[in-house]
Amino acid sequence: MSKTERRTKQLTTALREGGVRITRQRAVLLDVLAMADDHPDAVELHRRAEQVVPGISLSTVYRTLTALEERGVILRHLFEGAPARFEHAEADHHDHMIDVDTGTVVEFTSEQIEKLQTELAAQHGYDIVHHRMELYVRKKPRTP
Ligand SMILES: [Zn+2]
Repeated sequence: MSKTERRTKQLTTALREGGVRITRQRAVLLDVLAMADDHPDAVELHRRAEQVVPGISLSTVYRTLTALEERGVILRHLFEGAPARFEHAEADHHDHMIDVDTGTVVEFTSEQIEKLQTELAAQHGYDIVHHRMELYVRKKPRTP
């Protein structure tokens, strides 16, 4: 089973368990979500789904995303200055860089940062339960 197929199956099961009927429109949206590796927002997901099933409404997209988020199979990111963006929840832990000019989201992981965070929390007598690290970035001007 490919990654996309596995994700689609997971999303479909989650939606069914949430008592949501899998219409053709929703099935297409789940495919679109399973294929997305770029943190699209709801409008972008709607645009992609519409290319396959014209007529899918934006409110169907919003309601489906909310149901999936409640089941814990997708993550909603509220980056500053942008509408909520979504990604499949099965990805390994990573942090995000957000290009403030283009909205491009870059994923990164750093063992050093993870270690440093753990140490910092420990210095204050805490274990980290969860963390979110966002870097807001701008491309360096190209040197001639
Ligand atoms: Zn991500």
